[in-house]
Amino acid sequence: MSVYLDNAATKVPAPEVVKAVEECFKEFNANPLRGMYETSLRATAAVAEARETVAKFIGAQPDEIVFTRGATEGLNMAAMMLARLFGADATVCVGEAEHHSNILPWVKNFKKVDFGLGQAAEHKIVALSTMSNVTGAICEAPKVNGIVVVDAAQYVAHRIIDVKKLGADMLAFSGHKIGAPMGVGVLYIKRDLMNKLAPVYYGGEMVNGVEMMGGEIAMNLAAGPQKFEAGTLNLPGIVGLAAAIKLIEARGGIEKLNQRVVELTEFAKNKMAKLDCQIYAAENGIITFNMNGVHAHDTAEICARNDVCVRAGYHCAEPYLKSLGWGACVRVSLSADNTESDIEKLVEVLGAVPEAIKQEMLERGNYPECKGELSECDLSRNLVNESCGDEITVQVKLADDVIVDAKWSGHGCAISQASADYMCERLVGLSLEQAKEVRKKFEQLVVSGKEDDVLLKLNRLAEVSRMPARVNCAKLAWKILD
Ligand code: PMP
Repeated sequence: MSVYLDNAATKVPAPEVVKAVEECFKEFNANPLRGMYETSLRATAAVAEARETVAKFIGAQPDEIVFTRGATEGLNMAAMMLARLFGADATVCVGEAEHHSNILPWVKNFKKVDFGLGQAAEHKIVALSTMSNVTGAICEAPKVNGIVVVDAAQYVAHRIIDVKKLGADMLAFSGHKIGAPMGVGVLYIKRDLMNKLAPVYYGGEMVNGVEMMGGEIAMNLAAGPQKFEAGTLNLPGIVGLAAAIKLIEARGGIEKLNQRVVELTEFAKNKMAKLDCQIYAAENGIITFNMNGVHAHDTAEICARNDVCVRAGYHCAEPYLKSLGWGACVRVSLSADNTESDIEKLVEVLGAVPEAIKQEMLERGNYPECKGELSECDLSRNLVNESCGDEITVQVKLADDVIVDAKWSGHGCAISQASADYMCERLVGLSLEQAKEVRKKFEQLVVSGKEDDVLLKLNRLAEVSRMPARVNCAKLAWKILD
């Protein structure tokens, strides 16, 4: 059984949710809102009941709940509808810690978007995430006169939502972050705003009537949330969402579950503090870190090989991560279903990461993938490291100034061979100019340990920065680019 520590990405549905969805498929998988027969009536009732369950869960009225595919769709709908209502010149500001899903829809639909909430009161629209998927930090919505749009994708799994207390005019979340199926979510729209908005999707189920009048189509839009729900709804998803919410309530509510998550976060933080790693953030179940000298993707891959599921990269919040200066990092995200023993397993695997990386590097030197000779080549050099006797020949084939193949042969220490091998793999597809840029970054890596995403697997040689005598071994093959 693998240890699942990626709950901020998706929470695995509980058996109760799976059972509710299965029942829906087996017993009332009919088109809701239209049919007059038994199964369709049950489907219609299930949608209405789920709307009430969701409304109660977030302190709203049922007719303020629009079902969507998820937070991303909800935020896109919000941006498109508000752009139509206020025009693309309306001023928008978004928070600093935003997921791409709460940046890109605004940037695409409005002419100018400001980052940061400092001047929020001066903007017509304020869009912010109330919990960061990178740090776990909570950010309450500012009290302003403009329209407040809340991305509650993470918040929904850790705090009770009361749309009125939050001051939200619109609020989006995805069901799968609270153990519902993927592909279903909610966009809350405050009733008086809802009446002013035109939908972005048109089609069946969202009109009361469509008539041809004087050669033109006239439509009478449905009132309330149905106006925004064109097409057949995701009934199994909606049923699963209601079941997931009921399960949270049966387990004592979000606040109680989050208390356990906070306890586990502290436990993990204390255990991880003994590792050779840098912890950037640890709050509300989210622990963001890097093992020293190891690229985040390598750490995550080694965890995966040992049946521990964590996430690595920019977590769809690249501007924020870059502004923090962290770059790609590993994220562990806990739910109340995790246990102390899950964390102990994580810490055990993480403790073995530096050695695993070293082994990987040595192995790549001993079992290379790009060793050999090219039948034809455009660049070829025999390279020697006088101090230790490494002797490597690198051959490169070019087509229109782009490296289309590269191989190396000869002998040397594991580091010079691993470097030559990873280099040959990395350079294919690059122009000579780009190859030189990669070389510059690689040389920084082996001297200072500064990783860079552009280096891909070459980041595994970051360890060399702790062994100054081996830097020349690592740099040897790259002299082909002199
Ligand atoms: N916002 C935040 C803060 C998130 O964490 C996520 C999911 N990672 C999203 C938006 C987007 O959610 P979804 O992919 O379910 O639409």
